[in-house]
Amino acid sequence: MEAFFQQTRARALLSALLGQGRIGNALLFLGPAGAGQEEGAKALMMAANCPFPGSARDGGGLGDVFGDLSPCGRCPSCRRILGGNHPDYLVVRREGAFVKKGAVKDLLAMLALKPGEGRLRLAVIPEAARMNKEAANALLKSLEEPPAQTAFVLVAEGAADLLPTLVSRCRPVRFAPLAPGVVESFLTREKKAASEAAGICAKLSGGSLPRAAELLESGAWRRSRFFEERLSELLDGRAGDPLLRALLLSELMARSGKESAAESLDMIRGLLRCRLSDAGGKAARSACCAGLSAVESARRDLAGNVSPRLAMDGFFFSLLKN
Ligand SMILES: [Zn+2]
Repeated sequence: MEAFFQQTRARALLSALLGQGRIGNALLFLGPAGAGQEEGAKALMMAANCPFPGSARDGGGLGDVFGDLSPCGRCPSCRRILGGNHPDYLVVRREGAFVKKGAVKDLLAMLALKPGEGRLRLAVIPEAARMNKEAANALLKSLEEPPAQTAFVLVAEGAADLLPTLVSRCRPVRFAPLAPGVVESFLTREKKAASEAAGICAKLSGGSLPRAAELLESGAWRRSRFFEERLSELLDGRAGDPLLRALLLSELMARSGKESAAESLDMIRGLLRCRLSDAGGKAARSACCAGLSAVESARRDLAGNVSPRLAMDGFFFSLLKN
Protein backbone atom coordinates (compact mmCIF):
# COMPACT_ATOMS: atom_id res chain seq x y z
CA MET A 1 0.00 0.00 0.00
CA GLU A 2 3.05 2.22 -0.04
CA ALA A 3 2.23 3.96 -3.32
CA PHE A 4 -1.45 4.40 -2.44
CA PHE A 5 -0.43 5.79 0.92
CA GLN A 6 1.25 8.69 -0.91
CA GLN A 7 -2.05 9.59 -2.60
CA THR A 8 -3.40 11.90 0.06
CA ARG A 9 -6.07 13.51 -2.12
CA ALA A 10 -7.34 10.27 -3.64
CA ARG A 11 -7.47 8.69 -0.17
CA ALA A 12 -9.41 11.66 1.22
CA LEU A 13 -11.95 11.53 -1.61
CA LEU A 14 -12.40 7.76 -1.38
CA SER A 15 -12.78 7.80 2.38
CA ALA A 16 -15.39 10.57 2.08
CA LEU A 17 -17.32 8.47 -0.45
CA LEU A 18 -17.00 5.40 1.78
CA GLY A 19 -18.20 7.36 4.79
CA GLN A 20 -21.25 8.65 2.93
CA GLY A 21 -21.91 5.25 1.36
CA ARG A 22 -21.75 6.94 -2.04
CA ILE A 23 -19.15 5.07 -4.04
CA GLY A 24 -21.53 5.23 -6.97
CA ASN A 25 -21.61 3.12 -10.09
CA ALA A 26 -18.16 3.75 -11.46
CA LEU A 27 -14.91 5.44 -10.50
CA LEU A 28 -12.18 6.45 -12.90
CA PHE A 29 -8.69 6.44 -11.37
CA LEU A 30 -6.57 8.86 -13.39
CA GLY A 31 -2.82 9.41 -13.21
CA PRO A 32 0.55 7.88 -14.12
CA ALA A 33 0.48 4.09 -14.27
CA GLY A 34 1.46 2.30 -11.08
CA ALA A 35 1.00 5.25 -8.74
CA GLY A 36 -1.07 3.17 -6.32
CA GLN A 37 -4.29 2.75 -8.34
CA GLU A 38 -4.59 -1.02 -7.98
CA GLU A 39 -3.68 -0.80 -4.32
CA GLY A 40 -6.35 1.87 -3.99
CA ALA A 41 -9.01 -0.35 -5.57
CA LYS A 42 -8.06 -3.17 -3.20
CA ALA A 43 -8.09 -0.88 -0.18
CA LEU A 44 -11.51 0.43 -1.18
CA MET A 45 -12.87 -3.10 -1.55
CA MET A 46 -11.36 -4.12 1.79
CA ALA A 47 -12.68 -1.08 3.60
CA ALA A 48 -16.18 -1.50 2.17
CA ASN A 49 -16.33 -5.13 3.28
CA CYS A 50 -14.29 -5.24 6.48
CA PRO A 51 -16.45 -5.99 9.55
CA PHE A 52 -13.93 -4.23 11.83
CA PRO A 53 -13.02 -0.96 10.09
CA GLY A 54 -10.63 1.26 11.98
CA SER A 55 -9.91 -1.50 14.51
CA ALA A 56 -6.20 -1.66 13.71
CA ARG A 57 -4.73 1.80 13.30
CA ASP A 58 -1.91 0.29 11.33
CA GLY A 59 -4.46 -1.48 9.11
CA GLY A 60 -2.84 -4.79 9.93
CA GLY A 61 0.38 -3.44 8.45
CA LEU A 62 -1.35 -1.66 5.54
CA GLY A 63 -1.29 1.74 7.13
CA ASP A 64 -4.03 4.14 8.09
CA VAL A 65 -5.30 4.55 4.53
CA PHE A 66 -8.85 5.74 5.27
CA GLY A 67 -8.69 6.98 8.86
CA ASP A 68 -11.51 5.48 10.94
CA LEU A 69 -12.71 3.59 7.90
CA SER A 70 -9.39 1.83 7.27
CA PRO A 71 -9.69 -1.92 6.73
CA CYS A 72 -8.35 -4.10 9.54
CA GLY A 73 -6.14 -6.09 7.15
CA ARG A 74 -6.51 -9.20 9.32
CA CYS A 75 -10.07 -10.53 9.03
CA PRO A 76 -10.86 -13.30 6.50
CA SER A 77 -12.46 -10.81 4.08
CA CYS A 78 -9.45 -8.46 4.14
CA ARG A 79 -7.03 -11.36 3.78
CA ARG A 80 -8.86 -12.85 0.80
CA ILE A 81 -8.99 -9.52 -0.99
CA LEU A 82 -5.29 -8.96 -0.30
CA GLY A 83 -4.50 -12.45 -1.56
CA GLY A 84 -6.49 -11.82 -4.74
CA ASN A 85 -9.02 -14.60 -4.15
CA HIS A 86 -12.16 -12.88 -2.97
CA PRO A 87 -15.15 -13.91 -5.15
CA ASP A 88 -16.51 -10.35 -5.27
CA TYR A 89 -13.27 -8.69 -6.30
CA LEU A 90 -12.98 -9.09 -10.05
CA VAL A 91 -10.08 -7.83 -12.11
CA VAL A 92 -10.12 -7.81 -15.92
CA ARG A 93 -6.69 -7.68 -17.53
CA ARG A 94 -5.68 -7.38 -21.14
CA GLU A 95 -4.87 -10.39 -23.30
CA GLY A 96 -2.08 -9.41 -25.66
CA ALA A 97 -2.40 -5.76 -26.57
CA PHE A 98 -6.07 -5.31 -25.72
CA VAL A 99 -8.82 -5.87 -23.22
CA LYS A 100 -11.22 -7.62 -25.56
CA LYS A 101 -14.97 -7.81 -25.80
CA GLY A 102 -14.93 -11.47 -24.72
CA ALA A 103 -13.27 -10.56 -21.42
CA VAL A 104 -15.83 -7.84 -20.75
CA LYS A 105 -18.68 -10.21 -21.63
CA ASP A 106 -17.26 -12.81 -19.22
CA LEU A 107 -17.13 -10.14 -16.52
CA LEU A 108 -20.73 -9.10 -17.15
CA ALA A 109 -21.82 -12.73 -17.01
CA MET A 110 -20.15 -13.05 -13.58
CA LEU A 111 -21.80 -9.84 -12.44
CA ALA A 112 -25.21 -11.14 -13.50
CA LEU A 113 -24.88 -13.71 -10.70
CA LYS A 114 -25.62 -12.70 -7.14
CA PRO A 115 -22.64 -11.28 -5.23
CA GLY A 116 -20.91 -13.95 -3.15
CA GLU A 117 -20.44 -12.65 0.33
CA GLY A 118 -19.38 -9.04 0.41
CA ARG A 119 -21.30 -5.85 0.97
CA LEU A 120 -19.65 -4.35 -2.09
CA ARG A 121 -18.57 -6.11 -5.25
CA LEU A 122 -15.88 -4.37 -7.25
CA ALA A 123 -14.98 -4.91 -10.90
CA VAL A 124 -11.60 -3.40 -11.74
CA ILE A 125 -10.13 -2.78 -15.20
CA PRO A 126 -6.50 -1.77 -14.55
CA GLU A 127 -5.65 -0.80 -18.13
CA ALA A 128 -8.99 0.53 -19.27
CA ALA A 129 -7.38 2.46 -22.14
CA ARG A 130 -6.50 -0.89 -23.68
CA MET A 131 -10.17 -1.78 -24.15
CA ASN A 132 -10.93 -1.88 -27.83
CA LYS A 133 -14.08 -0.19 -29.06
CA GLU A 134 -16.23 -3.33 -28.93
CA ALA A 135 -15.14 -4.03 -25.35
CA ALA A 136 -15.83 -0.45 -24.27
CA ASN A 137 -19.25 -0.49 -25.89
CA ALA A 138 -20.09 -3.79 -24.22
CA LEU A 139 -19.32 -2.18 -20.87
CA LEU A 140 -21.26 1.06 -21.34
CA LYS A 141 -24.72 0.04 -20.24
CA SER A 142 -23.51 -1.77 -17.13
CA LEU A 143 -21.52 1.30 -16.06
CA GLU A 144 -24.74 3.23 -16.03
CA GLU A 145 -26.86 0.60 -14.32
CA PRO A 146 -24.55 -1.86 -12.59
CA PRO A 147 -25.99 -4.95 -10.91
CA ALA A 148 -26.83 -4.74 -7.20
CA GLN A 149 -24.00 -3.94 -4.75
CA THR A 150 -21.57 -3.58 -7.63
CA ALA A 151 -19.25 -0.76 -8.62
CA PHE A 152 -16.65 -0.45 -11.37
CA VAL A 153 -13.15 0.99 -11.15
CA LEU A 154 -11.51 1.94 -14.42
CA VAL A 155 -7.85 2.94 -14.40
CA ALA A 156 -6.25 5.13 -17.09
CA GLU A 157 -3.45 7.68 -17.40
CA GLY A 158 -5.71 10.38 -18.80
CA ALA A 159 -9.40 10.80 -19.56
CA ALA A 160 -8.49 11.41 -23.21
CA ASP A 161 -7.37 7.76 -23.43
CA LEU A 162 -10.97 6.55 -23.05
CA LEU A 163 -14.19 6.97 -25.01
CA PRO A 164 -15.96 10.12 -23.79
CA THR A 165 -19.11 8.07 -23.24
CA LEU A 166 -17.20 5.95 -20.69
CA VAL A 167 -15.63 8.95 -18.97
CA SER A 168 -18.96 10.74 -18.58
CA ARG A 169 -20.35 7.77 -16.64
CA CYS A 170 -17.52 7.70 -14.07
CA ARG A 171 -16.51 9.83 -11.13
CA PRO A 172 -12.87 10.85 -11.58
CA VAL A 173 -10.36 10.22 -8.78
CA ARG A 174 -6.96 11.76 -9.43
CA PHE A 175 -3.71 10.04 -8.53
CA ALA A 176 -0.64 12.30 -8.44
CA PRO A 177 2.76 11.28 -9.86
CA LEU A 178 4.78 9.69 -7.05
CA ALA A 179 7.57 11.90 -5.70
CA PRO A 180 11.02 11.02 -7.13
CA GLY A 181 12.23 10.13 -3.61
CA VAL A 182 9.48 7.52 -3.23
CA VAL A 183 10.25 5.97 -6.62
CA GLU A 184 13.97 6.03 -5.90
CA SER A 185 13.64 4.22 -2.60
CA PHE A 186 11.33 1.64 -4.21
CA LEU A 187 14.00 0.93 -6.86
CA THR A 188 16.80 0.68 -4.32
CA ARG A 189 14.82 -1.55 -1.99
CA GLU A 190 12.77 -3.75 -4.33
CA LYS A 191 14.98 -3.82 -7.43
CA LYS A 192 18.35 -3.56 -5.69
CA ALA A 193 19.24 -0.64 -7.97
CA ALA A 194 22.51 1.21 -7.45
CA SER A 195 21.98 4.77 -6.30
CA GLU A 196 22.95 6.53 -9.57
CA ALA A 197 20.63 4.32 -11.64
CA ALA A 198 17.79 4.64 -9.11
CA GLY A 199 18.10 8.44 -9.12
CA ILE A 200 18.02 8.75 -12.92
CA CYS A 201 15.16 6.25 -13.37
CA ALA A 202 13.12 7.95 -10.64
CA LYS A 203 13.66 11.33 -12.28
CA LEU A 204 12.62 10.05 -15.70
CA SER A 205 9.71 7.89 -14.59
CA GLY A 206 7.11 10.64 -14.38
CA GLY A 207 6.13 9.31 -10.96
CA SER A 208 5.21 5.84 -12.20
CA LEU A 209 6.69 2.75 -10.50
CA PRO A 210 6.33 0.39 -13.49
CA ARG A 211 7.89 2.94 -15.84
CA ALA A 212 10.81 3.41 -13.46
CA ALA A 213 11.30 -0.34 -13.17
CA GLU A 214 11.21 -0.68 -16.95
CA LEU A 215 13.85 2.02 -17.45
CA LEU A 216 16.04 0.26 -14.94
CA GLU A 217 15.57 -3.27 -16.21
CA SER A 218 15.98 -2.43 -19.89
CA GLY A 219 19.14 -0.47 -19.11
CA ALA A 220 17.61 2.43 -21.09
CA TRP A 221 18.50 4.85 -18.30
CA ARG A 222 22.14 4.61 -19.41
CA ARG A 223 21.23 6.50 -22.58
CA SER A 224 19.58 9.35 -20.70
CA ARG A 225 22.70 11.54 -20.70
CA PHE A 226 22.97 11.21 -24.48
CA PHE A 227 19.34 12.23 -25.01
CA GLU A 228 19.57 14.99 -22.45
CA GLU A 229 22.47 16.54 -24.33
CA ARG A 230 20.78 16.21 -27.74
CA LEU A 231 17.53 17.73 -26.45
CA SER A 232 19.39 20.58 -24.91
CA GLU A 233 21.19 21.26 -28.23
CA LEU A 234 17.89 21.29 -30.11
CA LEU A 235 15.75 23.19 -27.64
CA ASP A 236 18.30 25.67 -26.35
CA GLY A 237 19.38 26.56 -29.87
CA ARG A 238 22.92 25.31 -29.39
CA ALA A 239 22.94 23.13 -32.50
CA GLY A 240 24.35 24.68 -35.66
CA ASP A 241 21.82 23.13 -38.00
CA PRO A 242 18.99 21.88 -35.79
CA LEU A 243 16.95 20.34 -38.60
CA LEU A 244 19.87 18.30 -39.89
CA ARG A 245 20.76 17.22 -36.35
CA ALA A 246 17.16 16.26 -35.71
CA LEU A 247 16.96 14.17 -38.88
CA LEU A 248 20.14 12.32 -37.98
CA LEU A 249 18.77 11.64 -34.52
CA SER A 250 15.47 10.52 -36.00
CA GLU A 251 17.30 8.04 -38.22
CA LEU A 252 19.31 6.75 -35.30
CA MET A 253 16.21 6.24 -33.16
CA ALA A 254 14.18 4.67 -35.96
CA ARG A 255 16.91 2.31 -37.12
CA SER A 256 16.77 0.14 -34.02
CA GLY A 257 13.09 -0.69 -34.55
CA LYS A 258 9.70 0.16 -33.18
CA GLU A 259 10.19 -0.99 -29.62
CA SER A 260 13.44 0.78 -29.15
CA ALA A 261 12.06 3.96 -30.76
CA ALA A 262 9.12 3.84 -28.33
CA GLU A 263 11.56 3.39 -25.46
CA SER A 264 13.58 6.41 -26.61
CA LEU A 265 10.38 8.47 -26.83
CA ASP A 266 9.46 7.47 -23.27
CA MET A 267 12.85 8.66 -22.15
CA ILE A 268 12.45 11.95 -24.01
CA ARG A 269 9.06 12.33 -22.34
CA GLY A 270 10.70 11.96 -18.93
CA LEU A 271 13.43 14.45 -19.85
CA LEU A 272 10.87 16.96 -21.16
CA ARG A 273 8.89 16.67 -17.94
CA CYS A 274 12.05 17.42 -15.95
CA ARG A 275 12.76 20.41 -18.20
CA LEU A 276 9.18 21.57 -17.73
CA SER A 277 9.47 21.56 -13.97
CA ASP A 278 12.77 23.48 -14.15
CA ALA A 279 11.66 25.81 -16.97
CA GLY A 280 12.00 29.48 -16.13
CA GLY A 281 10.08 31.40 -18.76
CA LYS A 282 6.79 31.03 -20.52
CA ALA A 283 8.46 30.28 -23.87
CA ALA A 284 10.54 27.46 -22.38
CA ARG A 285 7.45 25.98 -20.74
CA SER A 286 5.40 26.09 -23.89
CA ALA A 287 8.24 24.47 -25.88
CA CYS A 288 8.24 21.60 -23.33
CA CYS A 289 4.47 21.22 -23.52
CA ALA A 290 4.56 21.17 -27.31
CA GLY A 291 7.34 18.55 -27.11
CA LEU A 292 5.28 16.42 -24.73
CA SER A 293 2.29 16.46 -27.01
CA ALA A 294 4.58 15.57 -29.95
CA VAL A 295 5.81 12.56 -27.90
CA GLU A 296 2.24 11.37 -27.38
CA SER A 297 1.40 11.75 -31.02
CA ALA A 298 4.54 9.86 -32.13
CA ARG A 299 3.77 7.11 -29.58
CA ARG A 300 0.29 6.76 -31.11
CA ASP A 301 1.82 6.64 -34.60
CA LEU A 302 4.19 3.87 -33.52
CA ALA A 303 1.38 1.88 -31.93
CA GLY A 304 -0.52 2.24 -35.21
CA ASN A 305 0.86 1.39 -38.59
CA VAL A 306 3.24 4.28 -39.12
CA SER A 307 6.86 3.33 -39.77
CA PRO A 308 9.34 4.24 -37.03
CA ARG A 309 11.16 6.61 -39.37
CA LEU A 310 8.02 8.58 -40.27
CA ALA A 311 6.88 8.68 -36.64
CA MET A 312 10.27 9.96 -35.47
CA ASP A 313 10.55 12.53 -38.29
CA GLY A 314 7.09 13.77 -37.37
CA PHE A 315 8.15 14.05 -33.75
CA PHE A 316 11.27 16.12 -34.48
CA PHE A 317 9.46 18.41 -36.92
CA SER A 318 6.84 19.19 -34.25
CA LEU A 319 9.54 19.67 -31.63
CA LEU A 320 11.46 22.15 -33.76
CA LYS A 321 8.42 24.03 -35.03
CA ASN A 322 8.25 25.91 -31.75
ZN1 LIG B 1 -10.86 -6.59 7.79
